[in-house]
Amino acid sequence: MALPTQIDPRKLALQGNLLEGEIKAVDLPRLESSVSAICGPLKASIQFELDESRAKVAHGTAMVTVETVCQRCLDPVKVDLRAEFAVQVIWSEDHINRVAANYEPWLVVDKMANLNELLEDEILLALPLVNYHPVGECTGETFLEEVEAIGDEVVLDNPFNVLLQLKK
Ligand SMILES: [Zn+2]
Repeated sequence: MALPTQIDPRKLALQGNLLEGEIKAVDLPRLESSVSAICGPLKASIQFELDESRAKVAHGTAMVTVETVCQRCLDPVKVDLRAEFAVQVIWSEDHINRVAANYEPWLVVDKMANLNELLEDEILLALPLVNYHPVGECTGETFLEEVEAIGDEVVLDNPFNVLLQLKK
């Protein structure tokens, strides 16, 4: 089931609603430009509710598999991203100090909020800066050998070595 894009988070919190569903890869443009490919839809589950101080909050999980480049072997690698989050809805940045320590502020200045953007933000935070294959599945050793071979050539071409050979 597709998640709604535009939601009224305050109403959902008052009603204590649970939203579960998917977002298509094409609707995650910032994630798409950060990875080689998005392998299927993002799946998310978000519980909206009032906390003990009647603040409007939401907490949930978002999961998506992406393909990126292994920084050890430079081959494609699939990475399962998982974000867990807890946010508190606020009307204005002036209210950031009202956000409890265990919540991130979610600035919603209008009645409606874009759920895609929230979930995409959270999953982008879960994306590691560098990614690797698991040990044993990576051909990175080959890559390291190639680097060493290139290193040897660099040593041979070093002008200092030529100078040493001339002295001999
Ligand atoms: Zn690798």
